[in-house]
Amino acid sequence: MLRKIWGGLTGLIFPDFCEVCGTPLVRGERYICLSCLYKMPRTQFWETEDNEIEKLFWGKINIEHACSLFYFRKGSDYRPMIHRLKYKGKYNIGLRLGEELGVCLGNSLLYSDISMLVPVPLHPAKERLRGYNQSEYIAYGISNITNLPLEKRNLIRTKYTQTQTRKNAAERWENVQSVFDVRDKSRFNGEHILLIDDIITTGSTIESCASTIMNSSTCRVSIASIGYASNYC
Ligand SMILES: [Zn+2]
Repeated sequence: MLRKIWGGLTGLIFPDFCEVCGTPLVRGERYICLSCLYKMPRTQFWETEDNEIEKLFWGKINIEHACSLFYFRKGSDYRPMIHRLKYKGKYNIGLRLGEELGVCLGNSLLYSDISMLVPVPLHPAKERLRGYNQSEYIAYGISNITNLPLEKRNLIRTKYTQTQTRKNAAERWENVQSVFDVRDKSRFNGEHILLIDDIITTGSTIESCASTIMNSSTCRVSIASIGYASNYC
């Protein structure tokens, strides 16, 4: 009882704010208000085969399915939130968005036989610098909803790459060649892996991840991310 009153009081004095629109959150809302969740420009790709993201990989790697939660557009109100997730220590945004993505995936027949969640790893030095891997928090969120197991140690990043932001498609692909490795190849055998990233732009990072996994183990791979930046910038 006292804890409830105290929680209510601190909520009044120090309210949490929506990471998108900045309005104070009400009870039951976490990190993003209901209105911003509702208005989020969702792709619906989790229920669409041969969608735009899957087409990025056609003729390159043989993945099962790919989707993102929402369109990550230039100038969108939803962009600063992703910036805070990646660079400002707000990893709980990843957890919250992962849960939202988890609900979509949980209701989709296309993803019904996923058996393992694998976040795209950061290089250990970069993770130390940042303090966390944002894709791992997205995976925690998906796992909270779907109860799928998370494997975060078997896929590793062996090369410290520069940021992809200012590179074109060819440079991005060059930048992520032979960057990843699988530790225990048998660990992935027989699984349908869902590879998890924060934002998909050209798809080159996640393509490199997926091909490393498929070249080392006998498994199927699908892909999911929070944002899809169709016109990268
Ligand atoms: Zn809001």
